[in-house]
Amino acid sequence: QEQTFVMVKPDGVLRGLIGAIVSRFEQKGFKLAAIEILTIDRALAERHYGELRAKPFFGELVAYLTSGPVCAMIWQGLHAVENARALIGKTNPVEAAPGTIRGDFAMDIAGNIVHGSDSAASAEREIGLFFGRTADD
Ligand code: ATP
Repeated sequence: QEQTFVMVKPDGVLRGLIGAIVSRFEQKGFKLAAIEILTIDRALAERHYGELRAKPFFGELVAYLTSGPVCAMIWQGLHAVENARALIGKTNPVEAAPGTIRGDFAMDIAGNIVHGSDSAASAEREIGLFFGRTADD
């Protein structure tokens, strides 16, 4: 079955939302394959969001991700990548539908509390980055 990488970002951890987010994935039917609390260093943040390096908000994004502990998870299930993106909702919480995680728990694109891989290839790369499996970047 497919796996995807999901991360509760520092603001989500600070606000005590790990349980609520884990619960939604479980209720949907995903299986939790790995979970870890860690603090991301600058190098890992820059590698994780490498494709956004040229964006004007990249510095802010790296500062946000390294500002406190995150909760990294691997969730497994049918169409895991797409099902997780649907559960999480649109990147900008203003556009995220109520009922999605961002729609229910976030206000601001620069603090959208959760990340989910956007493709099977990204999931493999991100699982490698965070859980030390072989990833070809
Ligand atoms: P994620 O990769 O975190 O799941 P995403 O794939 O939905 O998000 P991307 O376009 O890859 O969206 O953006 C990655 C992250 O960069 C967003 O989740 C958000 O935290 C941040 N971001 C995106 N656009 C902006 C912006 N205009 N201003 C500030 N931060 C932004």
